[in-house]
Amino acid sequence: MNFPQAIIDASALRHNLQRVRELAPRSRIMAVVKADGYGHGLTSVAGALVAADAFAVARLEEAMALRQAGHRCPVVLLGGIADKEQLQLAAAHRLTLVVHEFAQLELLERVPIISPLPVWLKADTGMHRLGFSPEVAAEAVARLRGCPAVASVVGVMTHLASADESEDSLTPIQLQVFEEIAAPGLLRSMANSAAVIIYPHVHFDWVRPGLMLYGASPFAHGTGAAVGLKSVMTLKTRLIATHHLRPGDSIGYGATWVCPEAMMVGVAALGYGDGYPRHARSGTPVLVNGRPVSLVGRVSMDMITLDLRTQPEAKVGDPVIAWGPDLPVEEVARHATTIPYELLCQVTARVPRTME
Ligand code: PLP
Repeated sequence: MNFPQAIIDASALRHNLQRVRELAPRSRIMAVVKADGYGHGLTSVAGALVAADAFAVARLEEAMALRQAGHRCPVVLLGGIADKEQLQLAAAHRLTLVVHEFAQLELLERVPIISPLPVWLKADTGMHRLGFSPEVAAEAVARLRGCPAVASVVGVMTHLASADESEDSLTPIQLQVFEEIAAPGLLRSMANSAAVIIYPHVHFDWVRPGLMLYGASPFAHGTGAAVGLKSVMTLKTRLIATHHLRPGDSIGYGATWVCPEAMMVGVAALGYGDGYPRHARSGTPVLVNGRPVSLVGRVSMDMITLDLRTQPEAKVGDPVIAWGPDLPVEEVARHATTIPYELLCQVTARVPRTME
């Protein structure tokens, strides 16, 4: 058996999807499975989330992988298409396009395709990343409606910049702009996970949850469990060495951590080469035999070192958990000054994902 490994809990995925349904009962759900299902494995995640009303991905390859895996539901390409080859492939795979700028619209006007595609218009309501500005959104909708390559303009979507921030003055402004753009006959979609959880008034016709499906909270001080979500990924490994060290002995690269007393230290097979964050600080919790111990010293490519003073009986082969249901990935992220999104997405290809 390979270690480390990521165990993916299919029933937790289904539970979290159901939790979205409870929170947004009048909306359809576009399950965001981009970036390899937030690092959990695209096709296995999609397999567990077949009850979603649509899948959303960022890149064409991800969308094609979903079709190749046999998914027939709407697959929404959030980033849209970049050139005519991509447009042809999108048509061949019956994708739903998000159109966020005029170059994409012009491709649709110019390039003949085998069968017209449904499209969403992306509007920029204040994030200033992707989308048509409010001034040109109506023109873009009208032109899309006249495109032979467009089967229908399904709706208008926008993305929230700070729904997960504790001081969020932007969402009300984005909402106001969005309501001015929305036109009769067009569905609306605005809510990411944060908005699904705390802003029912922006759920509209389609919600687009990502992180919460994987059981984590988008809020800086939150946990998924606090809002009824179940952790999906358990990143686990084993102890591969233990040492009795003396007071003053240092540990790892840079000798940054020095034993304050005679103590046991464990070495676990997990490092930044597996996606464990290199910037996790000494004191980051890790579970050994299900009980918390602290990371000490620098994270190496293939190993982390652990303070085993509370478990001097721990031995080579004992189970080690970096995050999972009993150790929220959000907490590990806080110790590494990052966000759970990044930790989940950056688990590397050498870590096998096993769905249970
Ligand atoms: N919608 C769009 C356009 C996104 O880019 C994302 C993720 O970045 C989401 C929805 C899902 O966001 P979250 O994972 O915060 O729910």
